[in-house]
Formats: sequence, C-alpha cells, structure tokens
Amino acid sequence: MMHAHIAVGMAAKRIAPRVSLGTLIFAGIFADLLLSVLLLAGVEHLRIAPGFTAVVPMDLYDYPYSHGLLHSMVWSILLGVGYFAWKRDVRGSIVVALVAASHWVFDFISHIPDLPLAPGYGARYGLGLWEHYAATHIVEGALFIGGFALYLKTTRPLDRIGRYALAGLFTALCVMMMGSLAGSVPPSATVMAFTTLLQLLLVALAAWGDRHREMRVPA
Ligand SMILES: [Zn+2]
Repeated sequence: MMHAHIAVGMAAKRIAPRVSLGTLIFAGIFADLLLSVLLLAGVEHLRIAPGFTAVVPMDLYDYPYSHGLLHSMVWSILLGVGYFAWKRDVRGSIVVALVAASHWVFDFISHIPDLPLAPGYGARYGLGLWEHYAATHIVEGALFIGGFALYLKTTRPLDRIGRYALAGLFTALCVMMMGSLAGSVPPSATVMAFTTLLQLLLVALAAWGDRHREMRVPA
C-alpha cells in the first residue's frame, strides 16, 4: 500500500502546512523503511512467494517490530516527539505522529492476517484487500490520485522547481504503480529491502519540491 501511505502524507499537508511534504511522506512510509532496515539486519524476516496474495508476492511472517500494533504506536509517538524537538511545532508533531500511525490502519485493511499486535503474541490480523487484485488497485489508485490532487490544491509552485519536482514525483509513483499492476516480483528479500529504501529518494524529491511551493491559502 505504498501509494496509499504516500497519499496520506500528501493529504496531511492541508492540516499541517508548516510540515515539509518530505517529512509527511517519510512518516507515512516509516514502517516500511524500518522493515527494510530490520530485514537487512536479520532482525525481521519475510519470504518472497509469488502468488501468496493476488497483489503482493510476499509471506510477511516475522515483522513485529516494524509492523506490530504496539511498536507502530511507539514509533509514531517517537516520530511526533522527534519532530516537536526539531521544530517546536505542536500541531505539526501531532500530524506527523498520526500520519505514521495511519500506516498500520492501511496495512490492516490491505494485508492478509499477518500483522501481529506485539512481539511474541501469536494472533495476527489483516482484512485481506490484497486477496483482490482489482479492488486493491482501484482503492490504492483512488487514494493516490486523491492525496496528490489535494496537495496540489493546497499548495502552488513558487518557481519551476516547485512544479517539476512534483511532476517528477508523480511520474515516479506512476511507474511504480505500473510495476505493481504488472505483478513484478523482487528476486529476494534483500533486493526488496534495498528497493524500498530507494523510496527515500522520493522523500528527498518531495521535500525539495515542497520548499519551492507555498500554501494557496495562507495558514
Ligand atoms: Zn507496511
């Protein structure tokens, strides 16, 4: 649900105008970035399994620290607190924490029952949208377009960077969505982790473009 997580960050700009779009998107995808780091560190594990769900070819059997409900809430609060320590912006820090926390909610809707509540707790949850190819892409595509449109409605470019960085972000996300539509399968968990970490480039692109845009209605 990467596009959904990014869409939440983009939509959140409207209620947290002082927070960079890069920060909001970072908060939205934080759990997946953390999963990648913990996969590479050998702390969490997944198995590439083509056909495991209709959309995502992965068996996510061990990822309680990045995607367990308990840790998701802890990370969200820490991100909010960290943002407050950095910017002294109460509203912004609350929104950053909420965007990060929304990751679990959207994953809960999309994942098959593989999300744990806490490490060592056996039961796993997920409503399983990923079992439905068309529904997943319709929902995710609608959220992506909606979030992006809301951001464009909320801000306007100050210069060409403000326009083209956002066009670049949109293009990159469309290419990634086409990869998902085509059912691309990463060759290994390690490759998947590194590919996910490349999303930090999108964060940087969003932050750069956002700095060259202003609110259409002053906050
Ligand atoms: Zn996730």
